[in-house]
Amino acid sequence: MFKKISILFTLVLCVSCNVESPSQAENTPNVISPPQETAGLAPEHAQLEKTLIHNAKIYTMDIGFSTADAILFDSSGRIHNVGGEQAMLEAFPDAMHIDLRGKTIIPGLIDSHAHLYGLALSLSQAQLRDTASVEEVIQRLREQEQHLAEGDWLLGRGWDQNDWPVKEFPSSADLDSAFPDRPVWLRRIDGHAGWANSAALAMADQDLSGDWQPQGGFIHRDADGQASGILVDGAMGLVAKTVPEISPELLQASLSLAIQQMLSLGLTGVHDMGIDQSVLELYQQRIEAGQFPTRVYAFTDGAGETLDWLCKKGAYDGPSGRLVMRAVKLYIDGAMGSRGAALLADYSDESGNTGLLFMPPGDLEAKFDKAMACGFQVGVHAIGDHGNRLVLDALESSIRKFPENPGRHRVEHAQTLTAADIPRFAELDVIAAMQPTHATSDMYWVEDRLGPDRVLYAYAWRSLLDSGARLALGSDFPVEKVNPMLGIHAAVTRQDTKGWPPGGWYPQEKLNREEAVRGFTLDAAYAGFMENSVGSLESGKRADFIVLDQNIFEIEPARIATIKVLQTWLDGELVYSYP
Ligand SMILES: [Zn+2]
Repeated sequence: MFKKISILFTLVLCVSCNVESPSQAENTPNVISPPQETAGLAPEHAQLEKTLIHNAKIYTMDIGFSTADAILFDSSGRIHNVGGEQAMLEAFPDAMHIDLRGKTIIPGLIDSHAHLYGLALSLSQAQLRDTASVEEVIQRLREQEQHLAEGDWLLGRGWDQNDWPVKEFPSSADLDSAFPDRPVWLRRIDGHAGWANSAALAMADQDLSGDWQPQGGFIHRDADGQASGILVDGAMGLVAKTVPEISPELLQASLSLAIQQMLSLGLTGVHDMGIDQSVLELYQQRIEAGQFPTRVYAFTDGAGETLDWLCKKGAYDGPSGRLVMRAVKLYIDGAMGSRGAALLADYSDESGNTGLLFMPPGDLEAKFDKAMACGFQVGVHAIGDHGNRLVLDALESSIRKFPENPGRHRVEHAQTLTAADIPRFAELDVIAAMQPTHATSDMYWVEDRLGPDRVLYAYAWRSLLDSGARLALGSDFPVEKVNPMLGIHAAVTRQDTKGWPPGGWYPQEKLNREEAVRGFTLDAAYAGFMENSVGSLESGKRADFIVLDQNIFEIEPARIATIKVLQTWLDGELVYSYP
């Protein structure tokens, strides 16, 4: 009790500090003036268990899309009431009152497909996203190298040759003159290709020259049969497995940074797509130490050891709903950018290439069976129309075998479909877990890969919704940026943040704002079996909500990407405040 009171008092002081700064006053809701009844009392006598936020524009995101102007929650982190300001002020005079001066509140956002651990790791590496040339990559690598010890690998991720003047894969030679001795290993933006310098290639435990290829992967080679430095999908492990592990100190610091970044952007939860036992234990330790201000719904990394371990233990459901693990992440194919997505017909820009299947369909079904027999949910990465069809076929068969399994199985990305497969999501009650910014990142080149007919069934959010399917939205960070406002903006406009193309890219597939925000709140909660505790602001649910500087439902759609999160509340505690 004392601890709680002091936390709330710090909060009062802290928020008042913000208001005093004139430069920030405009953007900062005027919060908390302790009601006169309690203002003069010593902390131990103050009635601070209940907090009433009023004079707010609250979108509860419940099924009926209700609005309210006041919300009451208590120090256990549960919402008591959501309703009209006048009645609630009269009914709860002893609560701590916070006047939001008309600012907008929506539920805390949930990213239904991302990689929290991956974000933490990426923050310990060079960020190569949005580099305009190989020269800029090398410049950023030189900056990163300053933090490294002798012998450390220089790691990076986020490069995309489609952003460069010469839109071809780079080679080891491009890196060797700057980094002749230190191994350099750089993952492509989609995570489906790696770029190594010669020092890193030399670390591989197999000779990469010749004409052999690994299962589900591709080694790019020059005319002499020497590896050129680009390894795709199943070939990446040849170098990746020789990269030494990150130090525990750097990992803890990077995880704190990653969670802080999520909170500052309004994310109170994330579905972490594919972690192993050691990461689950890392999260558990943080929860025990009181250093895990987020909610993670975790998927195992495949149907191997982690699933065996979890299946034996039973689904993990940690304290305060901060960490739940009862789902399995699988892959059927690769990504479109590196032509690893499995298509039913040739790539339009490379005849004879239909992409890569990571396993035969029978193996996929066997993995589904194993996961469903444990009572778990499956989420399967499928990008190409062939990959998606095989996943739907295998799900159809496995779901029939396990009628006791609670279901809500998911296709992750569900990116390129066919007219025939779109209705199958609703028929099978399979969730399409999609990432709107993938469309706006890929729209510049994806039609080259797919051609004008297939592209009509790509990123087909509206067609899926209209067919009766459920969507859950996310970002796939760190593949895309963490900011969920960019996802909502992309879903609503199908434009980039500069407004291109006019009217939107294949605008018939746009979502409206309510659908887009629901995809990041209640629908994301549903996709993680959490819709009874989070995802909307209703009495009995957890007080996870965010305060926005603009009304997301009323401003021009183009402005949605500029929305700033002023405050983030988790379990009724202020965990982020705009500086
Ligand atoms: Zn992913």
